[in-house]
Amino acid sequence: MKIVVVGTGYVGLVTGACLSEVGIEVICIDVNKTKIENLQKGILPIYEPGLEDIVERNYKNGRLQFSTDLAESIVGAEVVFIAVGTPPGEDGSADLQYVLQVADNVGTHMTDYLVVVTKSTVPVGTAAKVKEAIAGALRNRSASLEYDVASNPEFLKEGAAIEDFLKPDRIVIGVESERAKSTLHQLYDPFVLNGHPIYFMDIPSAEMTKYAANAMLATKISFMNDIANLCDIVGANVNEVRKGIGSDARIGNKFIYPGIGYGGSCFPKDVKALIKTGEQNSYELRILKAVDDVNNDQKKVIISKIMKHYNGDVAGKTFAVWGLAFKPKTDDMREAPSLVIIDALLQAGANVQAYDPVSMNEAEHMLDAKVVLTKDAINATKGADALILVTEWPEFRLPNWEKIKSNMKDHVIFDGRNIYNGDEMKAKGFAYHGIGIKS
Ligand code: NAD
Repeated sequence: MKIVVVGTGYVGLVTGACLSEVGIEVICIDVNKTKIENLQKGILPIYEPGLEDIVERNYKNGRLQFSTDLAESIVGAEVVFIAVGTPPGEDGSADLQYVLQVADNVGTHMTDYLVVVTKSTVPVGTAAKVKEAIAGALRNRSASLEYDVASNPEFLKEGAAIEDFLKPDRIVIGVESERAKSTLHQLYDPFVLNGHPIYFMDIPSAEMTKYAANAMLATKISFMNDIANLCDIVGANVNEVRKGIGSDARIGNKFIYPGIGYGGSCFPKDVKALIKTGEQNSYELRILKAVDDVNNDQKKVIISKIMKHYNGDVAGKTFAVWGLAFKPKTDDMREAPSLVIIDALLQAGANVQAYDPVSMNEAEHMLDAKVVLTKDAINATKGADALILVTEWPEFRLPNWEKIKSNMKDHVIFDGRNIYNGDEMKAKGFAYHGIGIKS
């Protein structure tokens, strides 16, 4: 089987690499020439645990190739995956221009029957637009070739993408023909040897499933953050509350950790896009509007705590910031809480010394030049008045507190992810502020 994956980012590269890992011949396409040239030299555009190994192995054995030329690559392919970005447009709806550009290209260059699959996260009705764009391109060249469209939303998590792709909890595929269903069944069978299901459904339901999944996860986070903020005010400890509710099987203990808000390239944009889909259909998604509002405020919660601690004046103070990526085990800083926090500190006249285990390249072009990027976590604390834990990387869990204490000018910790024990930190001589925990 030969497959083409268009878009070689977090989703496209992982998809291409994992498909080649089970024996399929894959060509990954991107418009970004540098990205493709680097991949051909073995340089990956992103950090994702385990990805480099799979890419290297399958590139060397020839099953995985990289190209900027869709026309050449599409010859002999049975399936084309569209895995390009769908960033938020100005009004919050998903911007489909890249997806439709690819559809147009596919229609312009296809030579035989194809299944064209949207893997990008796209609103209900997009597969129909993809179908129409391909039909338009075929009409322009007076060609009549058969093809099917399908929707196969991706549920991988950055930081665990390989594991998620190779051993998915479920695979969701929207189809409208038996022929497409049979091709995609064959393609995905190697990934469900663990007994997990492939759910075939109609295309609109598959498109909606992805948004509903991300919206539900974002809701859990914002709900818990709202409860944490109230715990803060009334003197309850959200860590205890979390354990208390999570042990109820109907609630479950996953995704109910309070913090400083969700970020990344998916939850914020997908929540907004789903709200927009509601609006376009005269339906107000009231819960999701609140989820979005709570999240926007939550990114600033740590700033309120900092301002309260310093009586509103942080000018000239130095803050060590640990963690810049939107979550551990990725270098992705899109919509990361770190951006909001660092920006607010700089605006208030404070100095920032920041460190992240893998996002330092991203940080160089995403952060203000005033931010000092340090070579490790301990160095970030040199001369600092306070330490802010923003992303809960494992290496931050049990650091050398003695070194940190002697490095710091003053000893205050703002723990945005509640990974430290407040009493223990106080016993070590630090003032401690967590989320939803009385300090
Ligand atoms: P990304 O920005 O990392 O990668 C997108 C790639 O597409 C870029 O390399 C870009 O150069 C390329 N591209 C753009 N237009 C192109 C074109 N016309 N032809 C060829 N290549 C083109 O994006 P991503 O994070 O991989 O996300 C892709 C899609 O998958 C989005 O819809 C996203 O919502 C969805 N998704 C992302 C994740 C995630 O964790 N990142 C998870 C599930 C779903």
